[in-house]
Amino acid sequence: MKKLLTADAYINSIYDITADDLKRHGIYGLILDIDNTLVATHTKEADEKVISYIKSLNNQGIKTVIVSNARKERVELFSKPFNIEYVYKASKPLGRGFNLAIEKMGLAKEQVAIVGDQLFTDVLGGNLKGIHSILIKPIDPKEPWPIRLKRIFEKPFLRKKEFKDKY
Ligand SMILES: [Mg+2]
Repeated sequence: MKKLLTADAYINSIYDITADDLKRHGIYGLILDIDNTLVATHTKEADEKVISYIKSLNNQGIKTVIVSNARKERVELFSKPFNIEYVYKASKPLGRGFNLAIEKMGLAKEQVAIVGDQLFTDVLGGNLKGIHSILIKPIDPKEPWPIRLKRIFEKPFLRKKEFKDKY
């Protein structure tokens, strides 16, 4: 179980991940969580910074698919300015969203990494699927109570982990 809850990398922010770093690890596709990974939870629309960051990854040959457990309207509205594929109601940590995303990217699963802020959805899901997992620090600590509860259970698994500024 512990292994399933261990990420391949612990990074402070999505902006610390560069296309060159990804390629160095053999990664050519990213499955992206929305809430507290790309924007603070409850932020409806993407900001310029995150849009240009994702576009720049795409321009450098990194494919991206947004995979969120949120509902259709939320994911659709958010994903629009990126002009990339997305999966809503993904049921992370279960495999459906990951399978669809990998299929959309047309990559081998060994070339794909999940980037997310939650151990029990993003990292666990990635590990169950056998793809790389990158855990980042949540953008905003103000979270709804079900997630705050999950954070308590995450703590023992994060105790000795050092979050870095570089992948
Ligand atoms: Mg999240």
